[in-house]
Order: sequence, then C-alpha cells, then structure tokens
Amino acid sequence: MASHKGNVPDPRSKQAVKPWCLQDFEIGKPLGRGKFGNVYLARERKSKYVVALKVIFKAQLRKHQLEHQLRREIEIQSLLRHPNILRLFGYFHDEERIFLILEYAARGELYKELQRVRYLPEKRAATYVSCLAQALAYCHEKHVTHRDIKPENILVDLQGQLKIADFGWSVHSKTKRQTMCGTLDYLPPEMVENRLHDHTVDNWCLGILCYEFLYGVPPFEAESQSDTFRRILRVDLSFPSTPAISAEAKDLISRLLVKDSSKRLSLQKILEHPWIAQNADSTSSCA
Ligand code: AMP
Repeated sequence: MASHKGNVPDPRSKQAVKPWCLQDFEIGKPLGRGKFGNVYLARERKSKYVVALKVIFKAQLRKHQLEHQLRREIEIQSLLRHPNILRLFGYFHDEERIFLILEYAARGELYKELQRVRYLPEKRAATYVSCLAQALAYCHEKHVTHRDIKPENILVDLQGQLKIADFGWSVHSKTKRQTMCGTLDYLPPEMVENRLHDHTVDNWCLGILCYEFLYGVPPFEAESQSDTFRRILRVDLSFPSTPAISAEAKDLISRLLVKDSSKRLSLQKILEHPWIAQNADSTSSCA
C-alpha cells in the first residue's frame, strides 16, 4: 500500500468507458470514521495509484436528508484543481453505499497535528495561512464559498501540504445566501445572526484559524454556546501574553475578524500583508 506511482485515476475517461466499481480497488486499512461511514486506504488495481475511499451509507444520508448536500459536495469538489484542495477523482455506488475516490492525505487531520503540538511557530502559521488564502482565492474565483474552514476540515499530505477537504457545506453561488451552517467557534457574526452572507465568511474563518494556529485555542471560546455567540457578535477579541506573538500577526488577525464583512481584508491583501510577506515560506509550493 505504499506506491503513489502510476497514473492518477481519471474519472472522466473511465466514466465514459465503464464506471468505477469496488472491484477496481484493493482495500487497505481504515483511515478514519466519519458520521455516515468510514474512510479506507485503497489502491486502484491497474495503475497502483493510492487513494482514500470514503464509504457513505445511503440509508444514513436519507435519514438525515443530506442527499442534496452530498450531491453538491461531489459536483463542487470534482471541479476544483488546486494543490491545497483535496482532489475528488470520482465516485460510484452500489445498492447501499456511495464511494468517493479521494486524494490520500497521509498525515490526516490538521486538527490532530494542532492537538499534538498545541500551537505553531509564526513562520509555519504564516505559510499555512498563505497557502489557504491562495486556495480560497481560487475557490472564490470559481464562485465557490467553503463556509466551513476549520482544522477538522483540513488534511495534511505526506509532504506536509495542506489540503482543504469537506465541501459539504460549500455553496456554488454568486449571490448572498442565508442558511445556518458551520461550527460554533468559527461562525462569523452574519451567520450567528442568520443574516445574508457571502464569500467573505471564509476570510473571517481564516482569521479564526490564524489565531488558533498561534494560540492553540479559537479566540471566542466560552463555556456555553450562547457565550460564544455573544463574544463573536461583540468581536470580543483579546490576545493573551503567552505565547508571545508579533504585532504584525495580531494586526492581520484584527483585520480579518471585522464584523462588517465588507471591511475584512481581501484574500489578495492577506498575501501582501507584512506578516505573511516576512514569514511565509515562498518555497513551500502551494500554487
Ligand atoms: P470524514 O468522514 O471526512 O470526517 O473522515 C473521517 C476521517 O477519515 C478523518 O478524520 C480523517 O482522519 C480520515 N480521512 C478522511 N479523508 C481522508 C483522506 N482523503 N486521506 C486521509 N485520511 C482521510
């Protein structure tokens, strides 16, 4: 199960001839457990290409009325091609299950890495923020808003490259939308208040993520959900004295965690920000 060599399975050419099926893959160890099924390491028999195979039970999807959401996730993710976005190579199904053929991210969730190291050095955090800003700029150009950027939805590959995954909550839309989704600590004020929102929700989440990278906790954490909401709505932002963080990093975070979404720093301006310019490793290939 080690080889990454061989051709990338190409769902377009394959689908045109014969759809993928389970017999096309050798199944390896389980990689993780999801809400609606498990993810396995797998290898396409002909090309020997290693992938992650996500198995989703149709009955579970139906029970939670999430068929539309999965369809949207598949449509969106299979169109995106960026080194920091997890590739979805294709999918197939049988009577009971849907199988997603995903790029394999050997080091798993960024969340687990963060839990292990608690917080990141500024240079690493800046490199990550820079790569994610580039990936999100690519999504926004294609009118895709992720809406659920958080460490649990970012995977890490063998080379340490970040891969944005889980487009389950993303939307393909040019207009402002009004649906509640996402995770508490990362929710922007306009989503807490259930107001119309647009692609700048991702810029807010990048600000939360940057804070969590540097301090090891999200900025508006509180005992209860309602306290978190209150802190988000007041943008009750403070910077602990330890770990000691540079003024430039705090400046970037403060320019992203802005209640008025139209005043948040744009993704392009993030890349030009002095903290990113001075700290992000430009040799780390993200684009
Ligand atoms: P999910 O159902 O997407 O939440 O996935 C459950 C778990 O499987 C995640 O927490 C990861 O640890 C693992 N996993 C999911 N997708 C991949 C992948 N493409 N590469 C490696 N591990 C994965």
